[in-house]
Amino acid sequence: MVSRVIPVDTFDLVIFGGTGDLARRKILPGLYRRFTGGQMPPDSRIIAAARSEMDDAAYRAQVRAALEEFVPAGKRDEGGISAFLERIHYVAIDATGTSGWADLKKMMRPDVVRAFYFSVAPSLFGALAERLHENGIAGPQSRIVVEKPFGRDLESARALNRVLALHFAEEQIYRIDHYLGKETVQNLMAVRFANILFEPLWKAQYIDHVQITVAETVGVGGRGAYYDTSGAMRDMVQNHLMQLLCLIAMEPPYHFDPNAVRDEKLKVIRALDPVPPEDIVRGQYLAGGGQESYVDHAGNPRSRTESYIALKVHIANWRWKGTPFYLRTGKRLRARASEIAITFREPPHSIFDDAEDWRENVLVIRLQPDEGINLKVMIKEPGPGGMRLTQVPLDMSFAEALGPDGEDIPDAYERLIMDVIRGNQTLFMRGDEVEAAWAWADPIIAAWERRGDRPKTYEPGTSGPEDALMLMHRDGRRWREIR
Ligand code: NAP
Repeated sequence: MVSRVIPVDTFDLVIFGGTGDLARRKILPGLYRRFTGGQMPPDSRIIAAARSEMDDAAYRAQVRAALEEFVPAGKRDEGGISAFLERIHYVAIDATGTSGWADLKKMMRPDVVRAFYFSVAPSLFGALAERLHENGIAGPQSRIVVEKPFGRDLESARALNRVLALHFAEEQIYRIDHYLGKETVQNLMAVRFANILFEPLWKAQYIDHVQITVAETVGVGGRGAYYDTSGAMRDMVQNHLMQLLCLIAMEPPYHFDPNAVRDEKLKVIRALDPVPPEDIVRGQYLAGGGQESYVDHAGNPRSRTESYIALKVHIANWRWKGTPFYLRTGKRLRARASEIAITFREPPHSIFDDAEDWRENVLVIRLQPDEGINLKVMIKEPGPGGMRLTQVPLDMSFAEALGPDGEDIPDAYERLIMDVIRGNQTLFMRGDEVEAAWAWADPIIAAWERRGDRPKTYEPGTSGPEDALMLMHRDGRRWREIR
C-alpha cells in the first residue's frame, strides 16, 4: 500500500524553546521526517528562538546533532540533512523581555502560514502570546501551539485560557495532546465510525467494561522535583487518559470536523461521575533494579504524590450506565505499554456444552509499543475432538498490514504539526474541554489531599500496588497483563 503525502501550504514555523529537550527529541526530528517525506514545501522555514546568543550556523550544528541522535541511521542521509538545515534559522529572544522581537518580525514573510510553537515552560505562554501580539508578529491568520501541562487545576487552566484569549481566537489556539496524534488513536475513530460492525454493540448493553492502561518502565529520574508538584493524575489522567476515554465513549459526531468532534468529547467529560475514594488506588515506586525510590527521586521523603494511579470511572449517560471504565497509569512498571481494551459481555445463552472454555470477546487497541488493533473471537478448536471452543486473535498490526509504508507511520508530533499548518484543530483540545477535565479532576485531588492519603508503595518492575488488583477483583474482573 502506498501512502499518500498531501503537501501543506508554505509556512514559517517559529519554535520558541528551539534549544530545549522537546524540540531536540521530537519536534525537529519530526519536521525532518516530514521534509524528507515530501510534505514540507521547499520554501518553508523553521525559525528557532531561545535566549542563548548564537548564529544560524551554530544552531544548525545543534540540530544536526539532534537528528543524528534521534532519527535512526537508516532514516537519514547527508543530502536530506543538509537540505533540511538550510530551511532553519535562529533568533535570540527573551520571552519575558524586549530583545529579539524586532529581529523576529523582520524575518517573518507575508502570505505564508505563520505558526508559533510554545515549547517553553508554561509560565512563559502568556508572555509569548502578549509579545507576539504587541509586536505585530501574529495576525488573525496565525496559529499558536501550546504544550502541556495546560494548567494544574481549573483555576490555573482558566487563567491561561483567559490570557491566550486576550490575543488569539480559539480557532488560532492548538493545545497539543500528543496521544491524539497517534495513528491508532485516530484509527479508533475510523474503526468506530467507518464500520457498521462495532457501533451497534458500542454501549453498556454489550460492553462489560473498558480498561485504559498507560504503563511506563522509566521513573521520574531527574524530573523528580518538578513531577512531585504534579503526579500521575495531573500529568497523565486529566489529559491523555481522559482524551482516550472520550474517543471511546463519545457519541458519533455529525462530521469529522474539529468542533463536532470536540463537542462530543466535551459531553463525555461533563457526564463523568465523581470518583469516590474506594475507587482510587495511588502508588509510589520503591527502590530497585539499581534505581532510587520515588521519594528519593522527588527529593522529598514525605512526598504524598503518586507515581501510579488506578481508578474506576463511571459515565452517567444512557449509553454507558453500568459499564465501568478502569484507568491506570504509572512509572517503573513491568513494561512500556499503552492500550485500550474493550471487553464485551457474554452471549445471552450458550448452545455449547463446554461453556467453561468460553472467553469474552475483547477488542484491544494498542498504542505502543507496536501500534495495532486486535479482536479476540471464539472459534471451534481445529481438528477432531468434537465441538470444542478456543479463542483466537484477529490481529491487525499496522506495520504488517500496511507493508513497508506501515513502518513509516508518522510520529504523533509530526502529524500534529502538519495539522497546525493545515489549520485542522480536530486532534487538539479546545479550551472548554480542558477546563471540564480539570473540573472533574480537581475535587478528586482535593479530597485525597484533605484526607492526607499516603500512596501505597509498589516494587518496580511489577504491575503496580496490590490494592490496584483488588479494585478489579472485587468487581469479579481482572486487569490485563502489562506486557
Ligand atoms: P527545556 O528542555 O527546559 O527547554 C526550554 C526551552 O525554553 C529552551 O530552549 C530554553 O532556552 C527556552 N527558554 C527558557 N526561558 C526562556 C525565555 N525567557 N525566553 C525564551 N526562551 C526561553 O524544556 P522542554 O523539556 O523542551 O519542554 C518544553 C515544553 O514542552 C514545556 O512546556 C514542557 O512541559 C513541554 N513538554 C515537554 C516534554 C519533553 O519530553 N521534554 C514532553 C511533553 C511536554 P534558553 O534557556 O536558551 O532560553
